[in-house]
Amino acid sequence: MRDFAAELENRKQAGLYRTRRVISGPQQPELVSDGVPLLSFCSNDYLGLASHPDIVRAVNDAMPHTGLGGAASHLICGHHDGHHQLEARLAAFTGRSAALFFSTGYMANMGVISALAGRGDTVFSDRLNHASIIDGCILSRARVRRYPHSDMGALADMLAVTGGHKLVVTDGVFSMDGDIAPLKELADLCRVHDALLVVDDAHGVGVLGPQGRGSVAELGLSEKDVPVLIGTLGKAVGTSGAFVAGPALLMDYLVQKARTYIYTTAMPPAIALATCASLDLIERENSRRSHLQSLIEHFRREATALGYELMPSRTPIQPIMVGDNWTALALSKALEQKGLLVTAIRPPTVPEGEARLRVTFSAAHSTADLEKLLTALAECRPMLKRASAEAV
Ligand SMILES: *Cc1c(COP(=O)(O)O)cnc(C)c1O
Repeated sequence: MRDFAAELENRKQAGLYRTRRVISGPQQPELVSDGVPLLSFCSNDYLGLASHPDIVRAVNDAMPHTGLGGAASHLICGHHDGHHQLEARLAAFTGRSAALFFSTGYMANMGVISALAGRGDTVFSDRLNHASIIDGCILSRARVRRYPHSDMGALADMLAVTGGHKLVVTDGVFSMDGDIAPLKELADLCRVHDALLVVDDAHGVGVLGPQGRGSVAELGLSEKDVPVLIGTLGKAVGTSGAFVAGPALLMDYLVQKARTYIYTTAMPPAIALATCASLDLIERENSRRSHLQSLIEHFRREATALGYELMPSRTPIQPIMVGDNWTALALSKALEQKGLLVTAIRPPTVPEGEARLRVTFSAAHSTADLEKLLTALAECRPMLKRASAEAV
Protein backbone atom coordinates (compact mmCIF):
# COMPACT_ATOMS: atom_id res chain seq x y z
CA MET A 1 0.00 0.00 0.00
CA ARG A 2 1.18 3.48 -0.84
CA ASP A 3 2.45 5.36 2.24
CA PHE A 4 0.12 8.39 2.28
CA ALA A 5 1.25 9.47 5.77
CA ALA A 6 4.88 9.63 4.62
CA GLU A 7 3.91 11.69 1.58
CA LEU A 8 2.05 14.17 3.80
CA GLU A 9 5.06 14.34 6.12
CA ASN A 10 7.34 15.10 3.14
CA ARG A 11 5.03 17.94 2.15
CA LYS A 12 5.26 19.38 5.66
CA GLN A 13 9.07 19.17 5.57
CA ALA A 14 9.15 21.03 2.23
CA GLY A 15 6.89 23.86 3.44
CA LEU A 16 4.21 22.72 1.00
CA TYR A 17 1.57 21.41 3.38
CA ARG A 18 -1.76 23.19 2.98
CA THR A 19 -4.52 23.82 5.50
CA ARG A 20 -7.94 25.42 5.26
CA ARG A 21 -9.20 28.27 7.41
CA VAL A 22 -12.87 28.44 8.32
CA ILE A 23 -14.58 31.70 7.42
CA SER A 24 -17.85 32.80 9.01
CA GLY A 25 -20.21 35.46 7.80
CA PRO A 26 -20.34 37.10 4.38
CA GLN A 27 -17.37 37.31 2.04
CA GLN A 28 -15.99 40.85 2.33
CA PRO A 29 -12.63 42.47 3.24
CA GLU A 30 -13.44 42.25 6.99
CA LEU A 31 -13.50 38.50 7.46
CA VAL A 32 -13.94 36.31 10.48
CA SER A 33 -11.41 33.51 10.11
CA ASP A 34 -11.48 30.70 12.69
CA GLY A 35 -13.27 33.16 14.97
CA VAL A 36 -10.64 35.90 14.55
CA PRO A 37 -11.39 39.14 12.66
CA LEU A 38 -8.92 39.76 9.81
CA LEU A 39 -8.69 42.29 6.98
CA SER A 40 -8.44 40.19 3.84
CA PHE A 41 -6.33 40.91 0.75
CA CYS A 42 -6.67 37.53 -0.92
CA SER A 43 -10.18 37.17 -2.33
CA ASN A 44 -11.07 37.22 -6.03
CA ASP A 45 -14.22 39.23 -5.27
CA TYR A 46 -12.59 42.16 -7.13
CA LEU A 47 -15.67 44.38 -7.25
CA GLY A 48 -16.99 43.58 -3.78
CA LEU A 49 -20.18 42.09 -5.21
CA ALA A 50 -20.13 38.69 -3.44
CA SER A 51 -22.41 39.95 -0.69
CA HIS A 52 -23.92 42.99 -2.42
CA PRO A 53 -27.52 43.57 -1.23
CA ASP A 54 -28.90 43.84 -4.81
CA ILE A 55 -27.52 40.42 -5.68
CA VAL A 56 -28.62 38.78 -2.43
CA ARG A 57 -32.06 40.27 -3.06
CA ALA A 58 -32.09 38.93 -6.63
CA VAL A 59 -31.57 35.37 -5.33
CA ASN A 60 -34.32 35.80 -2.74
CA ASP A 61 -36.71 37.31 -5.29
CA ALA A 62 -36.10 34.48 -7.73
CA MET A 63 -36.42 31.60 -5.29
CA PRO A 64 -40.23 31.50 -4.86
CA HIS A 65 -40.54 31.24 -8.67
CA THR A 66 -37.67 28.85 -9.39
CA GLY A 67 -37.13 26.86 -6.21
CA LEU A 68 -33.56 25.97 -5.41
CA GLY A 69 -32.36 22.76 -7.05
CA GLY A 70 -31.26 22.39 -10.67
CA ALA A 71 -32.99 18.96 -10.71
CA ALA A 72 -31.57 17.63 -14.00
CA SER A 73 -28.90 18.25 -16.62
CA HIS A 74 -29.46 20.85 -19.37
CA LEU A 75 -30.15 18.20 -22.01
CA ILE A 76 -32.76 16.35 -19.96
CA CYS A 77 -35.13 18.86 -18.29
CA GLY A 78 -32.78 21.13 -16.31
CA HIS A 79 -32.41 23.97 -18.84
CA HIS A 80 -34.56 26.59 -17.08
CA ASP A 81 -35.58 29.92 -18.58
CA GLY A 82 -33.40 31.55 -15.86
CA HIS A 83 -30.36 29.85 -17.46
CA HIS A 84 -31.58 30.73 -20.94
CA GLN A 85 -32.00 34.38 -19.94
CA LEU A 86 -28.47 34.48 -18.45
CA GLU A 87 -26.95 32.95 -21.59
CA ALA A 88 -28.54 35.67 -23.75
CA ARG A 89 -27.35 38.29 -21.23
CA LEU A 90 -23.78 36.91 -21.30
CA ALA A 91 -23.72 36.89 -25.10
CA ALA A 92 -24.76 40.56 -25.15
CA PHE A 93 -22.31 41.46 -22.36
CA THR A 94 -19.35 39.92 -24.19
CA GLY A 95 -20.47 41.02 -27.67
CA ARG A 96 -20.69 37.41 -28.84
CA SER A 97 -23.38 35.59 -30.83
CA ALA A 98 -24.17 33.04 -28.14
CA ALA A 99 -23.07 31.80 -24.73
CA LEU A 100 -23.34 28.68 -22.55
CA PHE A 101 -23.59 28.69 -18.75
CA PHE A 102 -21.30 26.14 -17.05
CA SER A 103 -21.29 25.16 -13.36
CA THR A 104 -17.68 26.23 -12.72
CA GLY A 105 -14.71 27.63 -14.59
CA TYR A 106 -12.89 24.39 -13.92
CA MET A 107 -15.62 22.47 -15.71
CA ALA A 108 -15.82 24.99 -18.54
CA ASN A 109 -12.12 24.61 -19.34
CA MET A 110 -12.19 20.82 -19.04
CA GLY A 111 -15.31 20.56 -21.21
CA VAL A 112 -14.38 23.11 -23.87
CA ILE A 113 -10.79 21.99 -24.48
CA SER A 114 -11.65 18.29 -24.55
CA ALA A 115 -14.57 18.97 -26.92
CA LEU A 116 -12.61 21.16 -29.36
CA ALA A 117 -9.41 19.08 -29.50
CA GLY A 118 -8.87 15.34 -29.64
CA ARG A 119 -6.46 12.60 -30.59
CA GLY A 120 -4.23 13.70 -33.48
CA ASP A 121 -4.76 17.43 -32.79
CA THR A 122 -2.32 19.73 -31.03
CA VAL A 123 -3.08 22.12 -28.15
CA PHE A 124 -0.65 25.00 -27.50
CA SER A 125 -0.86 26.16 -23.90
CA ASP A 126 0.93 28.99 -22.08
CA ARG A 127 3.23 27.66 -19.35
CA LEU A 128 1.46 29.71 -16.68
CA ASN A 129 -2.09 28.71 -17.62
CA HIS A 130 -4.55 27.78 -14.87
CA ALA A 131 -4.69 24.19 -13.58
CA SER A 132 -8.11 23.64 -15.16
CA ILE A 133 -6.65 24.40 -18.61
CA ILE A 134 -3.79 21.99 -18.01
CA ASP A 135 -6.27 19.30 -16.98
CA GLY A 136 -8.51 20.07 -19.97
CA CYS A 137 -5.49 19.54 -22.23
CA ILE A 138 -4.73 16.17 -20.63
CA LEU A 139 -8.36 15.08 -20.85
CA SER A 140 -8.51 15.96 -24.57
CA ARG A 141 -5.86 13.33 -25.41
CA ALA A 142 -4.45 15.79 -27.95
CA ARG A 143 -0.72 16.42 -28.20
CA VAL A 144 0.09 19.28 -25.79
CA ARG A 145 2.85 21.79 -26.44
CA ARG A 146 3.45 24.26 -23.62
CA TYR A 147 5.05 27.51 -24.76
CA PRO A 148 7.12 29.83 -22.53
CA HIS A 149 4.95 32.44 -20.81
CA SER A 150 3.51 34.91 -23.38
CA ASP A 151 6.46 34.18 -25.73
CA MET A 152 4.97 34.84 -29.17
CA GLY A 153 8.21 34.02 -31.02
CA ALA A 154 8.34 30.57 -29.46
CA LEU A 155 4.65 29.97 -30.15
CA ALA A 156 5.01 31.07 -33.79
CA ASP A 157 7.88 28.60 -34.26
CA MET A 158 5.84 25.77 -32.73
CA LEU A 159 2.75 26.57 -34.81
CA ALA A 160 4.80 26.73 -38.03
CA VAL A 161 6.12 23.17 -37.71
CA THR A 162 2.85 21.55 -36.62
CA GLY A 163 0.28 20.04 -38.96
CA GLY A 164 -3.33 19.06 -38.28
CA HIS A 165 -5.91 20.89 -36.20
CA LYS A 166 -4.48 23.41 -33.74
CA LEU A 167 -5.94 24.95 -30.60
CA VAL A 168 -4.19 27.78 -28.72
CA VAL A 169 -5.27 28.31 -25.11
CA THR A 170 -4.34 31.14 -22.77
CA ASP A 171 -5.45 32.88 -19.59
CA GLY A 172 -6.53 36.47 -20.39
CA VAL A 173 -5.18 37.73 -17.06
CA PHE A 174 -2.74 35.26 -15.47
CA SER A 175 -4.13 34.20 -12.12
CA MET A 176 -0.92 34.11 -10.07
CA ASP A 177 1.04 36.91 -11.81
CA GLY A 178 -1.69 39.38 -12.74
CA ASP A 179 -0.22 40.22 -16.14
CA ILE A 180 -2.29 40.19 -19.33
CA ALA A 181 -1.68 37.85 -22.31
CA PRO A 182 -0.63 39.47 -25.61
CA LEU A 183 -4.12 38.83 -26.99
CA LYS A 184 -3.81 40.87 -30.20
CA GLU A 185 -0.61 39.03 -31.16
CA LEU A 186 -2.20 35.69 -30.25
CA ALA A 187 -5.20 36.46 -32.46
CA ASP A 188 -2.89 37.40 -35.37
CA LEU A 189 -0.80 34.24 -34.98
CA CYS A 190 -3.90 32.05 -34.82
CA ARG A 191 -5.27 33.61 -37.99
CA VAL A 192 -1.99 33.08 -39.87
CA HIS A 193 -1.63 29.47 -38.70
CA ASP A 194 -5.32 28.52 -38.89
CA ALA A 195 -5.47 27.77 -35.15
CA LEU A 196 -8.54 28.16 -32.94
CA LEU A 197 -7.95 30.63 -30.08
CA VAL A 198 -9.43 30.02 -26.62
CA VAL A 199 -9.08 32.79 -24.01
CA ASP A 200 -9.96 32.19 -20.33
CA ASP A 201 -10.70 35.65 -18.95
CA ALA A 202 -11.55 34.52 -15.38
CA HIS A 203 -9.78 37.53 -13.84
CA GLY A 204 -10.56 40.11 -16.54
CA VAL A 205 -14.36 39.88 -16.67
CA GLY A 206 -15.94 42.68 -14.63
CA VAL A 207 -12.60 44.39 -14.05
CA LEU A 208 -11.04 45.29 -17.40
CA GLY A 209 -12.36 46.90 -20.57
CA PRO A 210 -15.31 49.19 -21.25
CA GLN A 211 -18.10 48.52 -18.69
CA GLY A 212 -16.07 45.61 -17.34
CA ARG A 213 -16.45 43.50 -20.48
CA GLY A 214 -12.98 42.00 -19.99
CA SER A 215 -9.48 41.91 -21.41
CA VAL A 216 -10.65 40.84 -24.87
CA ALA A 217 -13.10 43.75 -25.13
CA GLU A 218 -10.44 46.14 -23.81
CA LEU A 219 -8.48 45.46 -27.01
CA GLY A 220 -11.62 45.56 -29.16
CA LEU A 221 -11.09 41.95 -30.29
CA SER A 222 -14.10 40.47 -32.05
CA GLU A 223 -15.58 37.00 -32.16
CA LYS A 224 -13.47 36.41 -35.29
CA ASP A 225 -10.28 37.31 -33.41
CA VAL A 226 -11.13 35.31 -30.27
CA PRO A 227 -13.70 32.68 -31.25
CA VAL A 228 -13.85 30.99 -27.84
CA LEU A 229 -14.13 33.27 -24.82
CA ILE A 230 -14.39 31.73 -21.35
CA GLY A 231 -15.19 33.66 -18.19
CA THR A 232 -15.98 32.75 -14.61
CA LEU A 233 -18.78 34.22 -12.50
CA GLY A 234 -17.48 33.47 -8.99
CA LYS A 235 -14.79 36.15 -9.07
CA ALA A 236 -15.54 39.78 -9.98
CA VAL A 237 -19.15 38.93 -10.90
CA GLY A 238 -19.63 37.78 -7.30
CA THR A 239 -21.96 34.81 -7.89
CA SER A 240 -21.07 31.32 -9.12
CA GLY A 241 -20.48 29.41 -12.34
CA ALA A 242 -18.79 30.18 -15.63
CA PHE A 243 -19.54 30.75 -19.29
CA VAL A 244 -18.25 30.13 -22.77
CA ALA A 245 -19.18 32.65 -25.47
CA GLY A 246 -18.66 32.66 -29.22
CA PRO A 247 -20.22 31.86 -32.61
CA ALA A 248 -23.60 30.06 -32.45
CA LEU A 249 -22.20 27.14 -34.44
CA LEU A 250 -19.43 26.52 -31.90
CA MET A 251 -21.84 26.83 -28.97
CA ASP A 252 -24.12 24.27 -30.65
CA TYR A 253 -21.10 22.00 -31.11
CA LEU A 254 -20.29 22.33 -27.40
CA VAL A 255 -23.87 21.45 -26.40
CA GLN A 256 -23.35 18.19 -28.33
CA LYS A 257 -19.79 17.49 -27.18
CA ALA A 258 -18.76 19.20 -23.93
CA ARG A 259 -19.14 16.41 -21.39
CA THR A 260 -18.91 18.74 -18.37
CA TYR A 261 -21.94 20.62 -19.77
CA ILE A 262 -23.89 17.52 -20.69
CA TYR A 263 -23.35 15.15 -17.77
CA THR A 264 -23.91 17.42 -14.80
CA THR A 265 -26.90 18.90 -13.02
CA ALA A 266 -27.80 22.44 -14.08
CA MET A 267 -26.93 25.19 -11.60
CA PRO A 268 -29.76 26.54 -9.43
CA PRO A 269 -31.68 28.89 -11.78
CA ALA A 270 -31.86 31.53 -9.01
CA ILE A 271 -28.06 31.81 -9.24
CA ALA A 272 -28.40 32.48 -12.97
CA LEU A 273 -30.95 35.23 -12.33
CA ALA A 274 -28.79 36.80 -9.60
CA THR A 275 -25.90 36.75 -12.09
CA CYS A 276 -28.04 38.79 -14.52
CA ALA A 277 -28.53 41.34 -11.71
CA SER A 278 -24.79 41.42 -11.10
CA LEU A 279 -24.06 42.02 -14.80
CA ASP A 280 -26.51 44.95 -14.71
CA LEU A 281 -24.54 46.47 -11.82
CA ILE A 282 -21.20 45.83 -13.51
CA GLU A 283 -22.29 47.56 -16.72
CA ARG A 284 -23.91 50.47 -14.95
CA GLU A 285 -21.39 51.41 -12.28
CA ASN A 286 -17.90 52.47 -13.36
CA SER A 287 -17.10 53.89 -9.91
CA ARG A 288 -16.12 50.45 -8.55
CA ARG A 289 -13.56 49.98 -11.30
CA SER A 290 -12.09 53.48 -10.95
CA HIS A 291 -11.75 53.12 -7.15
CA LEU A 292 -10.10 49.72 -7.66
CA GLN A 293 -7.68 51.22 -10.17
CA SER A 294 -6.65 53.99 -7.78
CA LEU A 295 -6.05 51.43 -4.97
CA ILE A 296 -3.84 49.40 -7.32
CA GLU A 297 -1.79 52.39 -8.45
CA HIS A 298 -1.33 53.65 -4.90
CA PHE A 299 -0.25 50.19 -3.69
CA ARG A 300 2.29 49.74 -6.50
CA ARG A 301 3.89 53.11 -5.84
CA GLU A 302 4.16 52.63 -2.08
CA ALA A 303 5.13 48.93 -2.00
CA THR A 304 7.86 49.55 -4.57
CA ALA A 305 9.14 52.45 -2.47
CA LEU A 306 9.34 50.05 0.50
CA GLY A 307 11.65 47.87 -1.59
CA TYR A 308 9.25 45.02 -2.32
CA GLU A 309 9.55 43.22 -5.63
CA LEU A 310 6.24 43.48 -7.50
CA MET A 311 5.32 41.94 -10.84
CA PRO A 312 4.38 43.70 -14.10
CA SER A 313 0.64 43.80 -13.38
CA ARG A 314 -1.97 46.54 -13.62
CA THR A 315 -4.81 44.24 -12.50
CA PRO A 316 -6.13 43.64 -8.95
CA ILE A 317 -3.68 40.71 -8.68
CA GLN A 318 -0.52 42.28 -7.23
CA PRO A 319 1.87 39.53 -6.09
CA ILE A 320 4.86 40.30 -3.89
CA MET A 321 7.67 38.04 -5.08
CA VAL A 322 9.45 36.23 -2.25
CA GLY A 323 11.11 33.11 -3.74
CA ASP A 324 11.56 30.73 -0.84
CA ASN A 325 8.54 28.78 0.49
CA TRP A 326 9.40 29.27 4.16
CA THR A 327 9.96 33.02 3.86
CA ALA A 328 6.65 33.41 2.02
CA LEU A 329 4.90 31.50 4.80
CA ALA A 330 6.66 33.50 7.53
CA LEU A 331 5.74 36.81 5.91
CA SER A 332 2.13 35.72 5.54
CA LYS A 333 2.08 34.65 9.19
CA ALA A 334 3.62 37.94 10.39
CA LEU A 335 0.96 39.89 8.49
CA GLU A 336 -1.73 37.71 10.03
CA GLN A 337 -0.44 38.56 13.51
CA LYS A 338 -1.03 42.19 12.54
CA GLY A 339 -4.63 41.39 11.57
CA LEU A 340 -4.12 41.02 7.81
CA LEU A 341 -4.92 38.03 5.64
CA VAL A 342 -2.61 37.67 2.62
CA THR A 343 -1.96 34.12 1.48
CA ALA A 344 1.37 32.67 0.49
CA ILE A 345 1.25 30.93 -2.89
CA ARG A 346 3.70 28.07 -3.28
CA PRO A 347 4.58 25.41 -5.85
CA PRO A 348 3.00 23.66 -7.67
CA THR A 349 0.57 26.60 -8.02
CA VAL A 350 3.58 28.71 -9.08
CA PRO A 351 6.98 27.53 -10.42
CA GLU A 352 9.66 26.24 -7.98
CA GLY A 353 11.54 29.09 -6.29
CA GLU A 354 8.80 31.63 -7.05
CA ALA A 355 6.75 31.48 -3.85
CA ARG A 356 4.99 34.76 -3.32
CA LEU A 357 2.34 36.63 -1.42
CA ARG A 358 -0.65 37.03 -3.67
CA VAL A 359 -2.12 40.38 -2.73
CA THR A 360 -5.47 41.07 -4.37
CA PHE A 361 -7.56 44.21 -4.22
CA SER A 362 -11.29 44.74 -4.21
CA ALA A 363 -13.42 47.79 -4.81
CA ALA A 364 -14.76 47.04 -1.32
CA HIS A 365 -11.38 48.00 0.20
CA SER A 366 -11.19 51.54 1.55
CA THR A 367 -8.14 53.75 1.29
CA ALA A 368 -7.74 53.23 5.07
CA ASP A 369 -7.64 49.44 4.48
CA LEU A 370 -4.82 49.93 1.98
CA GLU A 371 -2.92 52.12 4.47
CA LYS A 372 -3.17 49.33 7.07
CA LEU A 373 -1.64 46.90 4.60
CA LEU A 374 1.18 49.29 3.68
CA THR A 375 2.00 50.01 7.33
CA ALA A 376 2.19 46.29 8.10
CA LEU A 377 4.33 45.69 5.01
CA ALA A 378 6.72 48.43 6.10
CA GLU A 379 7.08 46.77 9.50
CA CYS A 380 7.65 43.31 7.95
CA ARG A 381 10.11 44.53 5.35
CA PRO A 382 13.26 43.31 7.21
CA MET A 383 12.02 39.69 6.89
CA LEU A 384 12.72 39.74 3.17
CA LYS A 385 16.37 39.23 2.38
CA ARG A 386 16.08 38.41 -1.27
CA ALA A 387 14.23 41.50 -2.36
CA SER A 388 16.48 43.79 -0.33
CA ALA A 389 19.58 42.32 -1.95
CA GLU A 390 18.07 42.88 -5.36
CA ALA A 391 16.73 46.30 -4.61
CA VAL A 392 20.22 47.77 -3.98
C1 LIG B 1 -10.48 30.52 -10.93
C2 LIG B 1 -10.10 30.15 -12.31
C3 LIG B 1 -10.79 29.13 -12.98
C4 LIG B 1 -11.78 28.25 -12.28
O1 LIG B 1 -13.00 28.88 -12.15
P1 LIG B 1 -14.01 28.33 -11.03
O2 LIG B 1 -15.32 28.88 -11.44
O3 LIG B 1 -13.50 28.85 -9.74
O4 LIG B 1 -13.95 26.83 -11.10
C5 LIG B 1 -10.49 28.93 -14.31
N1 LIG B 1 -9.54 29.66 -14.94
C6 LIG B 1 -8.84 30.61 -14.31
C7 LIG B 1 -7.80 31.37 -15.05
C8 LIG B 1 -9.08 30.87 -12.97
O5 LIG B 1 -8.38 31.78 -12.32
